[in-house]
Amino acid sequence: MPGNNRPLNWPPSALPIARSNPIQLRRQFRSNHKTFIVDNQLAQQVDQFDLKDLFGSEISNFETANHVIGVGKLWNPTAEQTRWLFWALKFLVGNKDRLNGIDVKTATKSLFNAVCGGQIRMRAVDPSNERNFGREILRIIGYRQQYLAGSLVAPNRMELAPYYALDVEAPKEEPLDVKLLDERLETELIDLMKRHDPGYGESVQLTHDPLATAKAVHRFARDYFRPYIAAIVTLPVTLSQPIDQRLRSLDKEEFKDPLRISLLFNRAQGLPLLADAHFNTARVADHKNLEGRVALMLEKGGVRELVDRHLRVTPRTGHTQKFIALQSVFQKFKEQKVEEAVAAAQWQRIGSISHELMHFYCHHGFEAKQKTVQFGQVIIEGFTELLGAELYDKLRANVAMSGPLTDSLRGEAPVKEFVRLAQGASSKGGYEAATERARKIYQKVGKNNTWAAYFLGKAELVGL
Ligand SMILES: [Zn+2]
Repeated sequence: MPGNNRPLNWPPSALPIARSNPIQLRRQFRSNHKTFIVDNQLAQQVDQFDLKDLFGSEISNFETANHVIGVGKLWNPTAEQTRWLFWALKFLVGNKDRLNGIDVKTATKSLFNAVCGGQIRMRAVDPSNERNFGREILRIIGYRQQYLAGSLVAPNRMELAPYYALDVEAPKEEPLDVKLLDERLETELIDLMKRHDPGYGESVQLTHDPLATAKAVHRFARDYFRPYIAAIVTLPVTLSQPIDQRLRSLDKEEFKDPLRISLLFNRAQGLPLLADAHFNTARVADHKNLEGRVALMLEKGGVRELVDRHLRVTPRTGHTQKFIALQSVFQKFKEQKVEEAVAAAQWQRIGSISHELMHFYCHHGFEAKQKTVQFGQVIIEGFTELLGAELYDKLRANVAMSGPLTDSLRGEAPVKEFVRLAQGASSKGGYEAATERARKIYQKVGKNNTWAAYFLGKAELVGL
């Protein structure tokens, strides 16, 4: 959080222009559990920021505000602080007639002190939460009638979106390179499917019903992602609508062509070839083109069977009906003993449940974003995989220390093997490239924004 450390470099060495009335401030503040004292000998009174002079009667333009108060200017806020101040000042000026007896200059000074002094955490004061944003500003400026916040005009999410947009790659506008797809798609896709053909080698079967495991993961997830999951209004799975009606077995499922096509379509999007060919999910024609191509591939000898072997071991969540299909037959490697293979299979099952549960909780508004950006579907999978893996790692950490989850999670796996496998490195999930992109965004915008985007549909908070 850059804001917390800001006062250490304060005042800025290069002040813009000579200003009159320097005042001396001696302020004490706490940051990262340390107390700092700042002597700000060059600070100016906020008279310098007389809003009437700077902005007229309202602050309408971020560029202007940024120029006057932003990075490198007198108070030298960070870019994020500037953005926040802009909306806060706009809020004050816009509502001053409704705020009895407010002195905008004094209030502005309080805001600058608090924000540039690193006393508030910008992200904790979410401007897209209209009511809380207003209330927090009133608190900072010491306005007593905070209950007024509900009736004040706050920035709305549509207004804020461009300021919170991150530099996610803009969709490329080059047309789909059909010639390139003609040459390479079939070979590369079938080759990929063959390399990961689950139909070879020995297998191990789990006989326990996955329901108990799913319930344990579900219970933990609800707590872990609190309050975000709890804030979802229409959960597909709640304690009153039990998860047992949402699980299906993949073992005996009959597959049909639309499902086969969707698997091939999904796998194809992971090929680097698609980026080379400028494939863009936001373009309906590209979508249809790719779908048509994979549908034709199904008719080739052996492809349907190859696809079915994948489908048999590919857990998934129906996006509209929201059910989880799970397998009970898993691959067994030669070097594994049976107990170890059973424990590994159980962990794989837990990993699948973790991932698929995230699909359950994913807000439809966030899912809808896949239609608006290039490789949207992959990005959704990236976030799903990332959050699912986070959940999975927490479960593993608990079991690695023989924690209380061990018995509710292990199914038929022997305790010793199950705990030992939890102590090893967690294996990499699918959708690596997409997960990497999602991870970068996660690191940039932080947990609160990512969770709010994913679970509550505030996609603009991660720049989508
Ligand atoms: Zn998925």
